[in-house]
Amino acid sequence: MARDPRYDILFEPVKIGPKVAKNRFYQVPHCNGGGYRDPSANAEMRRVKATGGWAVLCTEQAEIHHSSEITPFIELRLWDDADMPMLARIADAIHEGGALAGIELCYNGMNGPNLYSRETPLGPMNLPILTFTNDPVQARAMDREDIRNLRRWHRAAAVRAKQAGFDLIYVYGAHGFGTAQHFLSRRINQRTDEYGGSLENRARLLKELIEDTKDAVGDSCAVPVRILVDEMLGDGGITNAEIRDVIGMLAELPDLWDLAHGSWDYCSGTSRFAEEGHLESYIKGIKALTSKPVVAVGRFTSPDAMVRQVKSGILDLIGAARPSIADPFIPNKIDEGRLDDIRECIGCNICVTGDMTGALSRCTQNPTFMEEWRKGWHPEIMRAKESDTRVLVVGAGPAGLSAARGVGLRGYEVALAEAGTELGGRVAKECRLPGLSAWGRVRDYRVGQIQKMPNVQVYLDSNLSADEVLEFGFGHVAIATGSEWRRDGVARFQTQPIAIDPAMPIFTPDDLMAGKLPTGDVLLYDDDHYYMGGVLAELLIKNGNTVRFVTPSIRVSDWSYNTLEQAFIQKRLIELGVEIHVTRGLMQVARDHAVVACTYSYRMSRIACDAVVMAVARSPNDELYLDLKARQADWRDAGISSVTLIGDANAPAPIAWATYAGHRYAEELDAPDIGDAVPFRRELAALSAR
Ligand code: ADP
Ligand code: SF4
Repeated sequence: MARDPRYDILFEPVKIGPKVAKNRFYQVPHCNGGGYRDPSANAEMRRVKATGGWAVLCTEQAEIHHSSEITPFIELRLWDDADMPMLARIADAIHEGGALAGIELCYNGMNGPNLYSRETPLGPMNLPILTFTNDPVQARAMDREDIRNLRRWHRAAAVRAKQAGFDLIYVYGAHGFGTAQHFLSRRINQRTDEYGGSLENRARLLKELIEDTKDAVGDSCAVPVRILVDEMLGDGGITNAEIRDVIGMLAELPDLWDLAHGSWDYCSGTSRFAEEGHLESYIKGIKALTSKPVVAVGRFTSPDAMVRQVKSGILDLIGAARPSIADPFIPNKIDEGRLDDIRECIGCNICVTGDMTGALSRCTQNPTFMEEWRKGWHPEIMRAKESDTRVLVVGAGPAGLSAARGVGLRGYEVALAEAGTELGGRVAKECRLPGLSAWGRVRDYRVGQIQKMPNVQVYLDSNLSADEVLEFGFGHVAIATGSEWRRDGVARFQTQPIAIDPAMPIFTPDDLMAGKLPTGDVLLYDDDHYYMGGVLAELLIKNGNTVRFVTPSIRVSDWSYNTLEQAFIQKRLIELGVEIHVTRGLMQVARDHAVVACTYSYRMSRIACDAVVMAVARSPNDELYLDLKARQADWRDAGISSVTLIGDANAPAPIAWATYAGHRYAEELDAPDIGDAVPFRRELAALSAR
């Protein structure tokens, strides 16, 4: 298909200093949890993306010096020449895919506790370092010699980056990272020398770093500046007006302005808290301050929204991190008029959790992300079927849909049987909860793909039994029958059912999602700790209930700290008037109250309520699988060679685990048995001489 001419503007080239971006699709720097530990996985991920049509692909932050490292987060390093081969591999991979390669140089300063290098962190002032984890470490105020050293280190890193093959070499001061931002902020910088006080003085280090980088590599490389648009601390921090003044002051110095938010949680706002294009009010008008191109993110997945950004003079380049993870082929799909095939980011920030936990990033929508090198997976292409066996997938949640799409793409004949009357499983239900509508995209993309495949048949209203599966005679059967929320208090705090008075109405998330809502004062017990408890609190408030949120954790929706949402969730619940009881575990439910224990002292107390809602553990729906397993002797006669349990029915987990399980099933169908071998490639440390 041909491109819709409305989108031609997105394919115009843009000059960035001495380089030319072939179109306006610009993948801004983003982490992937692999960094220096998994360089080949990192490189292959970028190479695959480059083949998807992006003009520019940037690395995550590269620490420029050993005195600025952010262990336990795993990013890239450019401490000395030894790091160059790894970076060259990434730059080469990006070039092979046909894009320009950018690198985000970073001196973390106040944000780097240096837990690994054991060096003293440096910052504008003698102040505790600013990390997520309140490390008990202070930064030392930089003197003039320290500033001269930093400028030398940055220059050396820029030269190395150029030698490693990068085309765009960043100066970074956004997201709370980057010493340039720390110097800009009145809150942190109260210096009395020429680097503190007036805005011009506070911007001096930024200006010098840009000048140094231009001088060192600007002849052949572009020098973008990534700068925050607001520190979100009111007049105490860097305001949007101040940033406009800074950009006005340094307007023509860099080759590109990359506008980001003050802290990562705002910049990478989830769909629950931030709309597509959420930075617009902070960015609008900045383009008029400079003749240099401007890029910014906004979780853009719609080409119409992208065109509007360009036509209305807000942006020159469409910045994307998460949309490029969820669908590395967005540019090509728009170019080829295949908008239906775009796999839209759902804004869940599961990708961020990979970085936050020191694991490899994963993506709810794109299970192949960071598996391009480890497993040889590709987001668009799968190897052709290896037999004419027919495949039955039971259950059309994220796992079943993902399996059916993958197996169908490989060319097998597939039947997808779903007990209910709609497709999507848990996603179809959860996307009706407050703030989660974008999650329906997990279903929409897969259903859209399956509908185009003549070899995939969908059967609704088909609650299959073991007898029926055996009768049908499919060669392979994938059981993706999901899970059910428990109503007996079992999760982490209690691992056995608790005593519950039958007079007290008990509700599970499944009940609430089915429209069965409690009345009166509700005790909402959350021993799940991800989004469900917080979302249900919002639903219950909307329903007119008084909500007493009780959790054994020290805070609401604890694990959502890893999706950068925790503070937003707790703030929202406080503002909605939810009564929050932390560090309380549920012991017993009586007819008109619950008994809870302090998780530290085990002192008991009572909380009165008319109903209890429990977000606790889930039970896998594995009966069908177990029935079939019990009848394994009948498989041969039925023509069945494998029955595989996948997704929540195997072990309940977030949606990303289910889409991954479905995709993995499709990839591994008819693959050779590898026995006990590790099922992915990994990079091992090369031993040095003793
Ligand atoms: P997952 O996250 O693993 O995909 P879900 O709970 O989202 O799991 O989806 C499971 C789906 O399986 C639900 O839509 C459910 O209706 C369906 N299902 C459960 N048991 C059967 C069965 N025996 N036959 C057909 N479909 C089933
Ligand atoms: Fe988007 Fe979620 Fe994938 Fe991240 S994990 S790219 S937020 S769909």
